[in-house]
Amino acid sequence: MRRKLAAGNWKMHGLGESLAQIAELAGPAASVDCDVLICPPATLIERAARAAMGSAIAIGGQDCHARETGAHTGEISAAMLRDAGATAVILGHSERRADRAEDNRAVRGKARAALAAGLMPVICLGETLEDREADNTLDIIAGQLAGSVPEDPAGKPIVIAYEPVWAIGSGLTPSPDQIARVHGFLRDRLAHRFGRSMAEATRLLYGGSVKPENAATIFAVADVDGALVGGASLTARDFAPIIAALDAA
Ligand code: PEP
Repeated sequence: MRRKLAAGNWKMHGLGESLAQIAELAGPAASVDCDVLICPPATLIERAARAAMGSAIAIGGQDCHARETGAHTGEISAAMLRDAGATAVILGHSERRADRAEDNRAVRGKARAALAAGLMPVICLGETLEDREADNTLDIIAGQLAGSVPEDPAGKPIVIAYEPVWAIGSGLTPSPDQIARVHGFLRDRLAHRFGRSMAEATRLLYGGSVKPENAATIFAVADVDGALVGGASLTARDFAPIIAALDAA
């Protein structure tokens, strides 16, 4: 019942020439039974949406402001992303939680704004190495989930991305059992809060050093509905085999 999703987070990478990667990905994206989402930097969203037009690739933002409009220099609203051609937005990425001190409350406000503007929020959460070593992973995840997901998504789809902070960009990944434990826990917490049918409909992505070499192992884990991919989403050469592995899982 859940359609698998391969989402790419380009972070602060990409100039106009990077749009060629989207064109190159159009063929592989058309031949799989999965959703494919690319989240380029804001400067490329409109051009990326144009490059992806007519293909199976959707375009998303990497952040949005919680307010609709106002005196917030340098910020971008959810409606602006939508207007530029985005259909989704990554929220609460650990880099923003760390660099911009975004807490769960801020992430929830942004998620509400995204839903109101018709964007699908991809809400990120994950423990630090310190949390994991102190055996606090599930407590941290529970707090982030409770605080970051809006009270009433009103039947609109949200996506949760479990991204252990220590796995992002490090080449390290949790074991399949560790991923299964967190994803099973997330599904249960969602069911407890929103009911079983919402929990069963919500896609749970794993993120953190997903590469062509480890994708099949990660996608075989129970309750993993796809991936949020950073570095390996920057080129079609690396992202296409990850999408193919998801399709085959
Ligand atoms: C990310 O930034 O969301 C991410 C998972 O990065 P990487 O795949 O490079 O670890």
